[in-house]
Amino acid sequence: MEKIVILTGAGISAESGLGTFRDEGGLWAQHRIEDVATPEGFARDPALVHRFYNTRRAQAVDAVPNAAHEALARLEAQHRGEVWIVTQNVDGLHEKAGNANVMHMHGALEGALCAACDHRWPAPLVMDPKDVCPSCGAPCTRPDIVWFGEVPYQMERIWQLLEQADVFAAIGTSGQVYPAAAFGQHAGRAGAHTVELNMEASVNVRDFAETRHGPASVVVPAWVDEVLAG
Ligand SMILES: [Zn+2]
Repeated sequence: MEKIVILTGAGISAESGLGTFRDEGGLWAQHRIEDVATPEGFARDPALVHRFYNTRRAQAVDAVPNAAHEALARLEAQHRGEVWIVTQNVDGLHEKAGNANVMHMHGALEGALCAACDHRWPAPLVMDPKDVCPSCGAPCTRPDIVWFGEVPYQMERIWQLLEQADVFAAIGTSGQVYPAAAFGQHAGRAGAHTVELNMEASVNVRDFAETRHGPASVVVPAWVDEVLAG
């Protein structure tokens, strides 16, 4: 049974209206990454950081999966082997589309984390620096998001999946953020057939045996159809 491991990045959620810090305009353009996406920024101004993620959380709640997310849900439901999605995205669009095997290496907007005791719980729609941890009572609640300078989640399991993969696909990733940027090379060296599906060639396109360029909502459903047809 063929094991398929898929990395997804911002490009797959862009067509559902969720922007990223690389986009011109939009939410990120109003803030510096150092202020809203680093532990130091949070220590300086937790109210600003909570407002930023509260806005992103509200946008993510309203967003709906697009044809690319739906195709990956179809792949997981119909492929005879395992399908794993490792996502850099903090929205819940893969789960909304129906995927069950989803690993959020950069955390999730739906999660809250206590900086004092590491307790995790479902984030309320609006978080505030005065909130207290439901486990230890400390006023140290933060979004369960992996910020710049922090270590992505579940990396040991992810490297293992990449080594076991028969097919590795990278969808909608710029190839600029490590460790995810190294996944194609790692999976390819371990024997996987590697495919890049992206709007344009990423900076590490040479790590992939096959490339398909175009909007995720077009290239992903076409690729899934081919995989399912065997
Ligand atoms: Zn706590």
